[in-house]
Amino acid sequence: MPELPEVETIKNELLPQVKGCHFVGVSLLRPEVLRQPEASEFGPRLYGQRVEDIHRRGKYLLFHLSSGERLILHLKMSGLLLIRPSFAQVEPYTTAIFRLDDRKELHFCDRRKLGAMWLVEDENKIIGRLGPEPLDANFSPQVLSRSLGRHRVPIKALLCDQNLIAGIGNMYADEALFAACLHPLTKADSLSSQEVGRLHQAIQEVLERAIAGKGASTDTYRRPNGQLGSAHFEFQVAHRGGEPCYSCGILIERISIRGRGSYFCPNCQRGGLQGRLF
Ligand SMILES: [Zn+2]
Repeated sequence: MPELPEVETIKNELLPQVKGCHFVGVSLLRPEVLRQPEASEFGPRLYGQRVEDIHRRGKYLLFHLSSGERLILHLKMSGLLLIRPSFAQVEPYTTAIFRLDDRKELHFCDRRKLGAMWLVEDENKIIGRLGPEPLDANFSPQVLSRSLGRHRVPIKALLCDQNLIAGIGNMYADEALFAACLHPLTKADSLSSQEVGRLHQAIQEVLERAIAGKGASTDTYRRPNGQLGSAHFEFQVAHRGGEPCYSCGILIERISIRGRGSYFCPNCQRGGLQGRLF
């Protein structure tokens, strides 16, 4: 599933390709992808608009349009955004095709068909409840501590809660908890300030390293030019169930936490004091 580093990479690589381009057409091959407005209104409202900028917020991509409106996309489990030449072959599972005025197309492909998009005047209706950005300068250990301290739930579940911290999902939560030597079932409100500091640093380092690796292609993720990312080659635990830990050699385990497969090293992430785990 694309998380912050994957969506950031897509934004970074799309921007020079589409900034300043105008939308000259759109085909909705699977109209259900559009949440707002009605499909009949979507094309006419988009037509002729220039892409002024692209931002990322959490796992959302926001295209800033010349009218001041936002085209917002969420890739969910398996969405891809591919830049293709005009009249390029359409891949299976293509959900929408945006035609741009310099003989380019933007293809939204989505194998699991969960992705979504909106065209709105006020972006806050879609992204207004997201938690802080973990790579922002004002995301301090104190901000993280405030988010965690109020909740007696497994730390893993909390890191994936978009209303508390935006952009982290299953893979990078597992990686950050390994880097911080914390068991994923640790009660979030039991962390010492030292542990919160360690987790804060781990979150930022794991995300920055994954952005440098252009995202992780563990599943369907590809960059807008079709190439794979390489961030998964540095994964210590995520998607490594049954393989030896690179640090201690003990086999990585997989457990389910609130329906999410969670990978951890039972030795390096022992969980500290008794009574702190669920
Ligand atoms: Zn280990």
